[in-house]
Amino acid sequence: MTQEPVWTFNAGSSSIKCAVFRGEQECCAAQVEAIGSSARLQIKGHDPIPLDRGVKHQQALHALIQGLNEKGFDLKQAKAVGHRLVHGGTFFQKPLVIASKQLAELQKLRNLAPLHNGYGLDIIEELLLSFPDIAQIACFDTAFHSTMSEVASRFPIPDQYFEKGYRRYGFHGINYEYLSEELKTHNAPSRVLAFHLGNGCSMAAIENGLSKATTMGYSTLDGLMMGTRTGNIDPGLIIALLRDEGLTIEQLENLLYRQSGLLGMSGMSNDMRDLLSSNEPKAQMAVEYFVTQAARQACSLIPYLGDADALVFSGGIGAGSSIVRERIIEKLAFLGFNVDKSANDARALRIDDIKSSKPIYVIAANEEKMLARHVMRMI
Ligand code: AMP
Repeated sequence: MTQEPVWTFNAGSSSIKCAVFRGEQECCAAQVEAIGSSARLQIKGHDPIPLDRGVKHQQALHALIQGLNEKGFDLKQAKAVGHRLVHGGTFFQKPLVIASKQLAELQKLRNLAPLHNGYGLDIIEELLLSFPDIAQIACFDTAFHSTMSEVASRFPIPDQYFEKGYRRYGFHGINYEYLSEELKTHNAPSRVLAFHLGNGCSMAAIENGLSKATTMGYSTLDGLMMGTRTGNIDPGLIIALLRDEGLTIEQLENLLYRQSGLLGMSGMSNDMRDLLSSNEPKAQMAVEYFVTQAARQACSLIPYLGDADALVFSGGIGAGSSIVRERIIEKLAFLGFNVDKSANDARALRIDDIKSSKPIYVIAANEEKMLARHVMRMI
């Protein structure tokens, strides 16, 4: 593997994360957070630096590159750069070196994923202009789920829509791939139910490292309840909200993506930590809904595996909260999963009761490392 540095970028609606790797070693990480409000540059191990309130992604990107330069990490020295793109459509199922032709193809996906790909594409475009000699490589969250069967990736609507791309794509794939690679190094059994529980939440049924089914669908709304997103709801409700409540498409989109989930149900916060420390009945109800829905969705994936031999928890909530893990695992005891409370509280790698349980792992999400691995394998 190359020892020249590889940089990674992961852009969202209000943040850009960046990391520098030499081999498997993360040498530095930085991010600009709160773009659009109180933007600040945070370089790991250093105090945050406030940026101008009006900064857009492009200026935030250059602030990030400049900030890392001042700490001795020069993007011009990079061997290559890896980017996270959430959506690769049906066509992009492997990491891809981007030049102007590929960029033009990817721009067409903006329509398919208006809420997802734009920021990442803008960053690739800017770096191609500013650093034309450095290879830019895109990795897609949807790619990991390209191994799903037609049964797992279809919605039961007529063919004509499936052919136009209305199908289950699935997301969080870069982290699921990372989890699969980590589990392999720990000799985990083959059929795994993976929980990615963060601000966005999803699950994947993974067999021998390949995705067999997942809970997110055409969009990032389906499946588990999330911080501000509904997860799975009755589609008839959407018709009623449009027809009987007179919501506009924008209001509906806002309701489903930004005002629901833990925030909507608790009326208090989208942060699981706030809800866990609250005595408010609505907060407790939201947490109970969250853990019950997670267990329900876990069960919905079993038919794609036949059985589950192991669980893995990841994401801010999945790796951060022993109580959420415990409450979900308790609901899956009938599948043969039992938690070891002290290992769980200590956030050990294995948190199962080894006398009576199938293995249960906790692995922090690390999309950056997976991006760097892809880049290193490609160059
Ligand atoms: P992520 O999107 O993976 O970064 O996860 C972010 C979310 O994880 C936050 O909004 C919190 O709700 C949640 N979170 C982070 N740390 C903890 C923790 N220690 N306990 C419970 N929830 C946590």
